[in-house]
Amino acid sequence: STEEALLAVNNIEVIYNHVILVLKGVSLNVPKGGITALLGGNGAGKTTTLKAISNLLRSERGEVTKGSILYHGERIQDLTPADLVSRGVIQVMEGRHCFEHLTVEENLLTGAYTRRDGGKSVKDDLEMVYSYFPRLKERRSSQAGYTSGGEQQMCAIGRALMSRPETILLDEPSMGLAPQLVEQIFDIVKRLNEEQGVTFLLAEQNTNVALRFAHYGYILESGRVVMDGAAADLRENPDVKEFYLGMS
Ligand code: ATP
Repeated sequence: STEEALLAVNNIEVIYNHVILVLKGVSLNVPKGGITALLGGNGAGKTTTLKAISNLLRSERGEVTKGSILYHGERIQDLTPADLVSRGVIQVMEGRHCFEHLTVEENLLTGAYTRRDGGKSVKDDLEMVYSYFPRLKERRSSQAGYTSGGEQQMCAIGRALMSRPETILLDEPSMGLAPQLVEQIFDIVKRLNEEQGVTFLLAEQNTNVALRFAHYGYILESGRVVMDGAAADLRENPDVKEFYLGMS
């Protein structure tokens, strides 16, 4: 490809608990300004790939034992998740981790913690997040734990946006949401990509929706990339149609 990768994952292997080999040589290129989808069924290794990039495997007794992960051409494997956030890479975890006892707005403000410029720009960013998620503005004073699944997903993405990320790793945004809400969330992802220039790498089991919104896709099976291509080509591919597009 002529597009230079912003994020490059080169042939990584991931092992859990010293013995369970889960990623068996995964390579991906994520171009700047794109939406790249990581597809595949349950247990294929999507979450593991995202956590390898954001260095969140250690707490699960997992480690990258081979290969390299480069961001802007530099190795990022030894950086802490917080260092990565300050370099512009943030993960939105599966299951929309919001602080349940905080209000929606307090949750959003926790996302600004890595910024060095206090005051005005945080307020501006809050308004920016509310402009994409008007529903969050309406619910700003509600305790996050009492908001709906869709609102919590919005809150998790909104909180990530508060760190002014260059790249968001988004894990299974459709999980547990009604189709109409899934569509809304993906519409917002697309707008954030086009209007704010945010690069996305998103893991999705919902191949249908992911391939409509992404530019490029990688399909994982049992810890290996079995196919990759432009989203439009994957949508027309007979194997993808048979094995993935029927599912969701
Ligand atoms: P899902 O949609 O369920 O999240 P996934 O494609 O994201 O699927 P992973 O969560 O990355 O898949 O899991 C890949 C494999 O790694 C699975 O077989 C899973 O059982 C295994 N695995 C995940 N986490 C651990 C862990 N902490 N210890 C051992 N094995 C794990």
